Amino acid sequence: MDSDDEPQPTTHTSQISAERCTQCNAPIDTGTWYPVSKDRADDGSLELYPFCGEECQQSWLEPRSE
Ligand SMILES: [Zn+2]
Repeated sequence: MDSDDEPQPTTHTSQISAERCTQCNAPIDTGTWYPVSKDRADDGSLELYPFCGEECQQSWLEPRSE
């Protein structure tokens, strides 16, 4: 039996200061428009929450019901 163990090519992760989606942690293409939410942190500073798409923004904005 042949084993199809192909070596996984390591993806080239260059030092891109890529934003990541607050909701799903997907990398965001900052070259195009993407939704961002603003909120106050506990210390009063303004926090920015970028999202990969409006769906994630909506999911994040929805209050979690138990
Ligand atoms: Zn997302």
